[in-house]
Amino acid sequence: MSKVNADRIKWWSEKIARYGEKSFGPSVSRWALFVLESLRNSPKKVLEYPSLYTASEKLGVPRKYISRALALLTRSGLVKITPQYPLQVSFNISSIYRYKNSAQKVRGRIPLKDRERLLREDKYKCGHCGVEFSPSELEIDHIVPVSLLGSDEPGNWVAICHEHNRRKWHNFDSHFIRYYRGKPVKGSVGVRFKNGFFWPNINGKTREETRKNWKENI
Ligand SMILES: [Zn+2]
Repeated sequence: MSKVNADRIKWWSEKIARYGEKSFGPSVSRWALFVLESLRNSPKKVLEYPSLYTASEKLGVPRKYISRALALLTRSGLVKITPQYPLQVSFNISSIYRYKNSAQKVRGRIPLKDRERLLREDKYKCGHCGVEFSPSELEIDHIVPVSLLGSDEPGNWVAICHEHNRRKWHNFDSHFIRYYRGKPVKGSVGVRFKNGFFWPNINGKTREETRKNWKENI
């Protein structure tokens, strides 16, 4: 790696460490930098694992830290994670010359058709306050934030009014969502880990609907 790249890596590492410590705590931050180093040293700059647990074992990162460490790296934009099996963690080399993180780019835009369907299924009600709004007054929020490895699939989406759209990417509050698909949420929202991502568990059911399922069910 050239001198310039090494400098940029150092700059990013410091940024990730600072940001990570504030948002995820020092341990996650340290493990994230450890993963980044492994990735940098891998010949193809891509690591591939059948699951997050295997990634944890092979990389030597404790299970309790692996998802948050990867989330932190994804947030920086230096690292990309494929949203399907096998779990592919790749170094986005061109991004080291950027000065901003790019979490928004990692998250795919939700197509209009999917958005319309989601709003309809949520009965045009805000998932937090339960008030009915017009479509233009609602946004789609991820129940488990993408930056925390929440899936970017319909099961993890919910309609939210502008006032209650959190935009706090690093936060997951199990009591925030009170309405889902037009029905009240009993108790709190649980989280299940499956296929490399987190999915909400609401009213005793893991909500793992994917865009693919949606297409098949039309
Ligand atoms: Zn609301």
